[in-house]
Amino acid sequence: MSFNALVVTRDEEGRTAATVSHITEDDLPPGDVLVAVEYSTVNYKDGLCIGSGGGLVKTWPHVPGIDFAGTVERSDHPDYRPGDKVVLTGWRVGEIHWGGHAQKARVRGDWLVPLPEGLTTRQAMAVGTAGLTAMLAIDALEAHGLAPGNGPVLVTGAAGGVGSVAVALLAAMGHEVAAVTGRPETEAYLRELGATTIVPRADIAETVKRPLESETWAGCVDAVGGAMLARVLGQMKYGASVAAVGLAGGAGLPATVIPFILRGVNLLGIDSVMQPRPNRIRAWNRIAELLPLDRLDAMIHPATLADLPELGAAILKGEVRGRVVVDVN
Ligand code: NDP
Repeated sequence: MSFNALVVTRDEEGRTAATVSHITEDDLPPGDVLVAVEYSTVNYKDGLCIGSGGGLVKTWPHVPGIDFAGTVERSDHPDYRPGDKVVLTGWRVGEIHWGGHAQKARVRGDWLVPLPEGLTTRQAMAVGTAGLTAMLAIDALEAHGLAPGNGPVLVTGAAGGVGSVAVALLAAMGHEVAAVTGRPETEAYLRELGATTIVPRADIAETVKRPLESETWAGCVDAVGGAMLARVLGQMKYGASVAAVGLAGGAGLPATVIPFILRGVNLLGIDSVMQPRPNRIRAWNRIAELLPLDRLDAMIHPATLADLPELGAAILKGEVRGRVVVDVN
């Protein structure tokens, strides 16, 4: 029986093309759990893997989709039985292993987590890697002393996927949230998610001129990197931390060490891809407990497999607002 998948092919000149095609279970890579996928999503990395591969995809044809949620159809893994609802993010699925932009996926059961209680598979994909990463970033900031009442917490790339969930989670946890955006038209959306201050990207995008500025932020979830991250480091309060999550604005870090050695500022690295399973389960349960579902619904942009080539290109240009949820059926 064939089913639909977004298949990316590459020709001899290295040009890639993504089209919805029919494939069969025999085409799927090995694994001990077969999942009937219900929903997937589009993260920045998916934009790369739907397009040229961005160095992440090694072989073609390829099925992208770094996240999916669905129901176990067959399992040789002791933790999963047919009918179980499951979520997958990371582990390089959708990059070197075929992913969730398909009606079925075969993966290692060790990569799956049970769908957290209180979320549907659709809501889990509205969260996706972006939301899980936002939660891991906030966990890390808390572990380094962030608590409500410490002062405003900055979120960069705020109208994107990681940023939107970070804003909603931090606000729900009682933090004052300042959202950096380059899209003034997203102001009402960001305020609806819980941001109390909107910081125009241009105000904070310039390269560091003074290594220390006024102590302003009690914490920061940074999805942008580059000159913006360097600038933010010099604006942190004494002893505060920045969780570095992304590179939407660049992989460089044109900074000085002055904020680290004179203000005790911490720069915390966040990786969701190889994050150990117990931390993932804890983070997913926290998301289910803390994230207001009406705010999550406000982030959702519904899509189908056929929309993915266009959405993949749009996310690379920073044009996607909030979270795309792909109904693969
Ligand atoms: P999105 O494209 O949804 O969001 C990125 C946001 O960054 C945009 O919406 C935009 O926000 C802002 N932005 C885009 N380009 C620039 C620029 N040149 N300068 C400043 N700001 C810019 O992507 P995601 O939220 O899915 O991912 C964000 C980043 O996090 C990516 O780099 C991604 O690779 C990384 N990531 C890392 C993970 C990890 O495990 N560490 C997991 C998931 C993502 P606005 O319009 O509001 O300014």
